[in-house]
Amino acid sequence: MNITAKTKIAMVIGDPIEHSLSPKMHNAGLENLALDSTHVYVGCRVNIADLENFVKGVKAMKIHFVSCTIPHKIEIIKYLDEIDDVAKKIGAVNTVINNDGILKGSNTDWLGVLLPLEKKVALQNKTVALLGAGGAARAAAYAVTSKGATLKIYNRTLENAKVLAEAFGGEAYSLELLQDVRNADIIINTTAIGMQPNIHETPLPKEFINNNQIVFDAVYTPYETTFLREAKEQGASIIHGTEMFLQQGITQFKLYTGKEAPEEVMRNILLDNFKLL
Ligand code: NAP
Repeated sequence: MNITAKTKIAMVIGDPIEHSLSPKMHNAGLENLALDSTHVYVGCRVNIADLENFVKGVKAMKIHFVSCTIPHKIEIIKYLDEIDDVAKKIGAVNTVINNDGILKGSNTDWLGVLLPLEKKVALQNKTVALLGAGGAARAAAYAVTSKGATLKIYNRTLENAKVLAEAFGGEAYSLELLQDVRNADIIINTTAIGMQPNIHETPLPKEFINNNQIVFDAVYTPYETTFLREAKEQGASIIHGTEMFLQQGITQFKLYTGKEAPEEVMRNILLDNFKLL
């Protein structure tokens, strides 16, 4: 271990946080680039009632970088000094950089959606069917509309889909019209359906998926959901939720180290651990 009094501290906060693979992923990247004496990445469980005090502590201790997960992404906004335009539009912060006591919030979740998709296809003029209208859906909606895709949102509560359509541009549908997903180029699931322990559930009947489509699941536990397995059986090209997790983290790595992240190293450590979950 190379930690000294000069080592900069990066951390992920959430409640709970013990399950998080971010420390493993980031520390593997830091070690690979021999940055493990200048930076260390830890996890902290922070109760939402303590968030304001936590932010004061970040300033007092000169914590260099904070990544936020559930339930802090919205609540933390009111305690920060600055928020960038993208985080404002998405309405959530997952990244806080401490610039000499000025805390600036940003969002890399949307890049977790965009970067894996762009490895497969250019989004301009593609039709994206987005399942869900919660936090992950907002990041996905921003990602695809910022690159010129047409957005169709399908959600259990139509009102929530309408709010998203209003914010990002697009059309809102109830689940009764889910069969129209057949005509989309890309399908993204941002509901929690299929997540452990309900691993046999899927947000979409298999027959609505075809071999011209790209199917992306934000759910990453289990590693391969029923939705993705059935999409693969239908001949679709699939993207695992782990890629979203990886790419948002890789973007954060560059923000707090100033260096390109070692993508393969970080992917491998994630996959080794996710497949064990
Ligand atoms: P959220 O804000 O609570 O939103 C959940 C969405 O799912 C809502 O649109 C909700 O519909 C819908 N939904 C929930 N249960 C449903 C059901 N039984 N039937 C139909 N629709 C249902 O959650 P979130 O933060 O967006 O997270 C959603 C999923 O994405 C989680 O599994 C999370 O782990 C995953 N995620 C993954 C990553 C990654 O890096 N891979 C990042 C963020 C999130 P209503 O509007 O009707 O309530």
